[in-house]
Amino acid sequence: MSFTLAIVGRPNVGKSTLFNRLVGKRLALVDDTPGVTRDLREGAARLADLRFTVIDTAGLEDATDDSLQGRMRRLTERAVDMADVCLFMLDARAGVTANDQMFAEILRKRSAHVILAANKAEGSAADAGVLEAYGLGLGEPIRMSAEHNEGLNDLYTQLMPLADQFELRAQTDAPDTDVDLDEDDDQEPSHVPTSAKPLQVAVVGRPNAGKSTLINRILGEERLLTGPEAGITRDSISLQIDWAGPDGVGVPMRIFDTAGMRRKAKVQEKLEKLSVGDGLRAVKFAEVVVVLLDAAIPFEQQDLRIADLAEREGRAVVIAVNKWDIEEDKQEKLRDLRESFERLLPQLRGAPLVTVSAKTGRGLDRLHTAIMRAHEVWNRRVPTAALNRWLTGMLEQHPPPAPQGKRIKLRYMTQAKTRPPGFVVMCSHPDKMPASYTRYLVNGLRTDFDMPGTPIRLYLRSQN
Ligand code: GDP
Ligand code: GDP
Repeated sequence: MSFTLAIVGRPNVGKSTLFNRLVGKRLALVDDTPGVTRDLREGAARLADLRFTVIDTAGLEDATDDSLQGRMRRLTERAVDMADVCLFMLDARAGVTANDQMFAEILRKRSAHVILAANKAEGSAADAGVLEAYGLGLGEPIRMSAEHNEGLNDLYTQLMPLADQFELRAQTDAPDTDVDLDEDDDQEPSHVPTSAKPLQVAVVGRPNAGKSTLINRILGEERLLTGPEAGITRDSISLQIDWAGPDGVGVPMRIFDTAGMRRKAKVQEKLEKLSVGDGLRAVKFAEVVVVLLDAAIPFEQQDLRIADLAEREGRAVVIAVNKWDIEEDKQEKLRDLRESFERLLPQLRGAPLVTVSAKTGRGLDRLHTAIMRAHEVWNRRVPTAALNRWLTGMLEQHPPPAPQGKRIKLRYMTQAKTRPPGFVVMCSHPDKMPASYTRYLVNGLRTDFDMPGTPIRLYLRSQN
């Protein structure tokens, strides 16, 4: 089994109900190893194609005495330490209670991966509670109804990338020593191939930047028509390929080519419009946007517009400067390019800038590496504990402003989403926060957690 999920939360929020759903009819294995109390139940869970171990801290249901809080704390801490991922459940109808706060505190400090579930969320009676849950600083809560089988899709969506990560780790850490405890479960092949969803890449840029030539070069064959031929009526197209990187390993990619469409255009003005509209579609489709520039005329208005669009749409961006074969003083040109890039596209600070020649094929490995890296960063999740340690340091180094003598307090933060990374900071008077301080934090995140080439979103949420 690839990883362990612990369900934690105070009594009666619905932990066992979820546990039973995940484990299904398969026997929950009660751990009777000496020294391990029966407070923790363990079972073999299944959620769509995911297989994992689930731990439930159910034994607390009968705890009624004064020591309840202490016991809950100890039990939760143990479960958290045993697990790779914690699902922290609260009762959305009851809202966030003091005990929930205590759990949140433990999880923020102790757990690398927390998934927040606001349970009993069927119907509108739970709306307020779901919103309140957001304020725990543990990311976006899943609206769940364990009883009515709702929210499990969202749970799957959050678990899946982690599952891949743990799978990889397990493969590199140790030989496969898993024992299949589930006798009935013999239908599944032991190695389900990981879904090879192709990485979605768009190549955008002005007409004649070299998009078709580049894609041809990647394909290694003249499948697209390049050059000045007019009148080819073809819409934007995408192609799926395995593009091998410097290590020779093919990576499935779907490349969206915007070159075809502009050939229909006859008038210069119309051509420009078409390219932008087409670029927009490509950007919306893509995970990674490669902005292809012509080295001879880089950072033209249209290039800037499309790069800005990619940033606003929250895509990972790679800047590729084409026709590098023609450049004579490459050193100086590169310096100029970097300078222009910083000045003209400050919103994309840190995005990789690579030089290529679609014609000769030089630099394509660099481009491959840059795309893969930008995609990885775009998907990156920073653990909550590390974020909060970082935030403390940032606040000490440069305290937030105090408009009208009242200092804005930043309490804690968490990463609420990926693709691109989005962070929530709980603070007092978010409306008074100057943009410069937000920029300070965003730039700090980018540098300290090494996240170049991706937009970073920072959301301020009010908590007084
Ligand atoms: P635990 O103590 O956290 O393990 O909670 P249980 O799973 O035993 O559930 C406590 C109570 O909440 C039970 O009466 C469940 O039927 C009920 N419950 C669990 N999930 C839901 C839900 O999604 N909606 C509603 N309305 N009730 C639920
Ligand atoms: P698109 O409109 O962006 O698809 O551009 P094309 O791929 O049609 O290329 C436009 C022109 O630039 C063609 O004449 C290509 O041969 C030329 N071109 C493309 N890439 C390079 C390159 O890396 N070096 C040089 N010297 N010319 C290139």
